[in-house]
Amino acid sequence: MNNENVLEVENLKKYYPIETGIIKSKTSYLKAVDGVSFAVKKGETLGIIGESGCGKSTVAKLLMGLEKPTSGSIKFKGTDILSLDKTQMKKFRKSMQMVFQDPYSSLDPKKTAGYIIQEPLFIHNVGTKAQREARVKELLKMVGLDYYHANRYPHEFSGGQRQRINIARAIALNPEIVICDEPVSALDVSIQAQVINLLKKLQQELGLTYIFISHDLSVVKYLSDRLAIMYLGEIVETGDSKSIYSNPIHPYTKALFSAIPPESPLEEKEKIILEGDVPSPMAPPAGCKFHTRCPYTQQICQESKPLLRATKNGQKVACHLSEQLA
Ligand code: SF4
Repeated sequence: MNNENVLEVENLKKYYPIETGIIKSKTSYLKAVDGVSFAVKKGETLGIIGESGCGKSTVAKLLMGLEKPTSGSIKFKGTDILSLDKTQMKKFRKSMQMVFQDPYSSLDPKKTAGYIIQEPLFIHNVGTKAQREARVKELLKMVGLDYYHANRYPHEFSGGQRQRINIARAIALNPEIVICDEPVSALDVSIQAQVINLLKKLQQELGLTYIFISHDLSVVKYLSDRLAIMYLGEIVETGDSKSIYSNPIHPYTKALFSAIPPESPLEEKEKIILEGDVPSPMAPPAGCKFHTRCPYTQQICQESKPLLRATKNGQKVACHLSEQLA
């Protein structure tokens, strides 16, 4: 374990059995996450990018213990969290919290904002009643809300305010890592920037480590130090965010990033349109999973699976032609 890494994920897999027939026999597997490895350093933001169905949200659920992996390891500060018993797992959960995509459905409509924010403190038996109330007051202030908001119900807030309540709940126990799963995709564009700025401010103030999952490349660019790009359950490119934005190497990353509007109207940018649909994760293509849509595909791509390898630019890329495309 590298001392700087707060989280290390090794060869993580999640296969869902597909059952068919009257006797429900397992005939195949849906490979939602298929051998994902990454590490996250303390205080940094790892952005996980990919189209819907690429497995990024399943990775979040596996990290949070909401789903059990088929195989692989998840180490938090050197301890494999998959080997923890129930009591140890409850203790560990204080260290890793999550902000969900939909700020409305993730809040109990029958509970006040104050109760919702306090809930993790109740569950983990933290503080007296007075201390918990003082903490709610502090958390509301930290996320840009007022103390009188504590007595209001979720339907009385705007989408942006509801996401602030979600964030307050996520940081209530002073976690080290916060997993943000598409935290602004359900919000209006004008509100998105406010919530992103709030996440950035809290990271600086509290030294938080983020795993930021999104399909929105502009949002990820603003927040992330490093990136992992996923396609059909696998990471196809990973590395420093600035390097990938300035020089994407994997053909899938090139196509994704070509869709970002240029920063200046004078800048000319060619948009790469990928042919065909994303194949089913129940029957992914052999060899390179991207070969059915890749403009550079060759015979070897259909026969042999490319491994994630370091390139001269520092990025790791899973492509047989990575050196030529770098
Ligand atoms: Fe394209 Fe082949 Fe590289 Fe896959 S391995 S991304 S098919 S060039």
